Parts: sequence; structure tokens; C-alpha cells
Amino acid sequence: MSKINREAVLNCPVCGSKYKQKMPQIGKHINSKCVSCNTVFGINNTNDCCVYCTYSDVLCPKTQKKIKNSQRK
Ligand SMILES: [Zn+2]
Ligand SMILES: [Zn+2]
Repeated sequence: MSKINREAVLNCPVCGSKYKQKMPQIGKHINSKCVSCNTVFGINNTNDCCVYCTYSDVLCPKTQKKIKNSQRK
């Protein structure tokens, strides 16, 4: 059983820098603040799950769980 990855590396769309952020387990996180340029960026449309699913290298814990559950038969 693979475990849920809670550490995301976000890719800032403004300055292109990457920074690590721990993903919280609950709540909908639609934006994040870049640590190098201090820009707050977020998801562009409501169909996107959260800022992690859109801008980081991993999916948020909620989506990871959903995928895992859908694979279980
Ligand atoms: Zn930035
Ligand atoms: Zn998500």
C-alpha cells in the first residue's frame, strides 16, 4: 500500500521558482503565496480541484485518496 504524499513542490507561474509546501489534509486550497516573489496565485476556474493539483508536482491528498479508492475493486 503506497502512502499519501503530503509534500508538494509548487511551481510559481509568475517567476517560475519552485518551493516546497506541506499540504493540509482538510479544506479547499485555491491559492498559494510564492516564497520568492510573494505573488499570491491560484486556480483559474472552478473545475480545478485546488492549487496543488494545478501548480504542484503531486496531487492533493484528497485526490490521491480518490484515485486510490477508484482503483480498488
Ligand atoms: Zn514566484
Ligand atoms: Zn486537489
